Amino acid sequence: MTQTPAIVVLGSLNMDLLLRVPRVPGAGETLLGHSLQLLPGGKGGNQAVGCARQGARVRLLARIGRDADGQALREALARDGIALDALQQDETEPTGRALVMLEDSAQNRIVVLPGANARLALDDAALARQLQGAQYLVTQLETPLPVVLQAVAAARRAGCKVMFNPSPMLPLPDALWPQIDTLVLNEVEAAAYAGGEVATPAQAAAAGRALRARGVAQVVVTLGALGAVTVEQGGCRFQPALRVRAVDTTAAGDTFTGALAVALAQGSSLAQAAARGVRASAVCVTRIGAQVSIPTAAEADAQPEALPAQDLP
Ligand code: ADP
Repeated sequence: MTQTPAIVVLGSLNMDLLLRVPRVPGAGETLLGHSLQLLPGGKGGNQAVGCARQGARVRLLARIGRDADGQALREALARDGIALDALQQDETEPTGRALVMLEDSAQNRIVVLPGANARLALDDAALARQLQGAQYLVTQLETPLPVVLQAVAAARRAGCKVMFNPSPMLPLPDALWPQIDTLVLNEVEAAAYAGGEVATPAQAAAAGRALRARGVAQVVVTLGALGAVTVEQGGCRFQPALRVRAVDTTAAGDTFTGALAVALAQGSSLAQAAARGVRASAVCVTRIGAQVSIPTAAEADAQPEALPAQDLP
């Protein structure tokens, strides 16, 4: 039997203000919305929940404010069994917030106010303890870059693999790429970091190869409703997405990343892990909201099998 994987997630926590609208208003236009909900989100929290619901033991390194949003986020994460001993509370900055405008067409537009996330600070000695025994550090860029770089370096020293989701896009130091075991990014990010257009599996494979040439070991480019492309030493493969009726793609990439990390930590191949990511994220897009839409392992298992992956030249 495989041991329960242990994963440390470093990242943001936001309270999402989910505003459902028939369509987004144009400049100077006012329109009536359908509803406004407050729901737990933030890429760090979403990825932590994504890992926990796939059966991993998860510790989250994050920062909230001393306010009701922070308390609500803390309680939601605790219900998923996520270890919060390293969760920090800022005395002055509010908990991060994201305004999510979701159209009837399932298109979303998101603005993030980082708040306490921008003041996340880590201590090397504590980090070494927190990473002990973990197979993966999973992190993104909604927390300050110096902290992300510090955690990546600490993970390398601790013998813990690094899964990095470079979102939102930022200029990154060249020295970071060789420290990444698994890079997960969407088509827009792949185009920006690698250069060139990324709309097809073949273009995603080319972007993945360019990023591997900078020193990344494995690259996964997600292509929304198309699926995902894996790029590693053994070659490139396209894993088609499941066909579902998407109502909200918020947290689809985070759900994919969480499922990918857990599968890899359990010893799956990159292709098997991508198939797992595709099945979990297919459930996520059929539900509205970020953390509330992330499926459990049993819910992902109830999905049809993923279509076979195709080798790419
Ligand atoms: P991000 O949310 O980071 O932009 P993507 O939009 O590429 O990431 O979505 C991540 C994964 O979620 C995709 O690789 C795919 O497996 C799944 N997914 C996204 N949109 C859909 C959709 N409309 N139908 C089925 N699966 C989807």
